[in-house]
Amino acid sequence: MIDQEKIKEAVTLLLEGIGEDPGREGLKDTPDRIARMYTELFAGMGQNAGEHLGKVFQVENGGIVLEKDIVFYSMCEHHMLPFYGKVHVAYIPEGRVVGLSKLARTVEVYARRLQIQERMTGQIADAVMKELSPRGVMVVVEAEHMCMTMRGIKKPGSQTVSIATRGAFEEDARLQDQFFRLLGEA
Ligand code: ZN
Repeated sequence: MIDQEKIKEAVTLLLEGIGEDPGREGLKDTPDRIARMYTELFAGMGQNAGEHLGKVFQVENGGIVLEKDIVFYSMCEHHMLPFYGKVHVAYIPEGRVVGLSKLARTVEVYARRLQIQERMTGQIADAVMKELSPRGVMVVVEAEHMCMTMRGIKKPGSQTVSIATRGAFEEDARLQDQFFRLLGEA
């Protein structure tokens, strides 16, 4: 679990390391503030997506269900800087669906920890596959990475897109096209 005292000590050292005075007025509460903030930002570490995806509704088997524009904020594990954007999740139910809020919670479970975008995309797809046992899942994540835009490697606003497909969506170009068509509709 998260050790707030350790985070405070580390932030104090970090401030000293960059040549700051951790005792000056504007910084004296910063280690404590960051410790509390990290507790929130990394809350996903102790969570399991099954807690959220376990609450299913029964439906007749149907077509693609797409939940789009699920906003997320995560932290890149290479630089500990934010990356953030939108997750779009599509699946083909085999009798079981969940509400949008449960998919959004699932995204939070994997976003609120140190991450890389590609792994998060796959973890969301795997969780939906495991808990809902659909015919297939496709997850697309569009994100802006501060470690790229802030340091000037890429232009601000540039997006990194990652895709994960499972089950029926794997190697089925028609289903994948359908996903992107649905995504493009208002
Ligand atoms: Zn990074």
